[in-house]
Amino acid sequence: MTVRNIVLFGPPGSGKGTRAKIISKLYGIPVITTGDILRSAARNQTDLGIVAQGYMERGDLVPDQVVNSLVRERLSQPDVAQGFILDGYPRSEEQAKALDQILRDLGISLTHIIHVVLDDETIIERLSKRRSCPKCGSVYHLVSAPPKKDEVCDQCGSKLVQREDDKEEVIRNRLKVYHEQTAPLSDYYNRAGKLVQVNGDGTVDEVRERVEDAL
Ligand code: AMP
Repeated sequence: MTVRNIVLFGPPGSGKGTRAKIISKLYGIPVITTGDILRSAARNQTDLGIVAQGYMERGDLVPDQVVNSLVRERLSQPDVAQGFILDGYPRSEEQAKALDQILRDLGISLTHIIHVVLDDETIIERLSKRRSCPKCGSVYHLVSAPPKKDEVCDQCGSKLVQREDDKEEVIRNRLKVYHEQTAPLSDYYNRAGKLVQVNGDGTVDEVRERVEDAL
């Protein structure tokens, strides 16, 4: 079986999570979503969650050493032997270098780096109408992918919420952080010759096709 060790990065709201789930189903490999891990830790008020919460509410990056050690720990689990998808990590050149070191220590390397590209206006439109299920993580859009019943998750019946950081002023800060710290990763990975850029617009089927092509 081909091993696929994938990094997926792109601006908030570019559909990274949707793509990650598609890839995970296609190849049977786990998704590691740092945002979900941190949100769940914040909900449960663990030591990690208490540190992360304030940064997340402002749309700032959680300190590197916190995120790097949680990724190191996760990539050391046996279920990543056939591959993994890192969704939302690395988010800066420092994190990319830390990831290189983690992978060296574990004796593995990245096979694909996918950069999802989308313009800021589309992102703001998408995120301000995004609703998420706090229980199972399903994601909806009030116009293009609404739940069957208003405000209720199709999958598990929980009441949908707007993430605190999907409010417009926080979205603007997340975009600023993205452009300053995360976008330069495309140069970092381009030098290694493994970068594929995909368009973040389009329907889920179009997205699935582009992802399959990219892989
Ligand atoms: P996301 O769901 O990927 O948009 O992430 C939500 C928030 O979690 C971000 O705005 C950051 O505060 C935090 N976060 C997620 N991934 C990382 C990371 N790799 N480095 C630092 N902070 C992160």
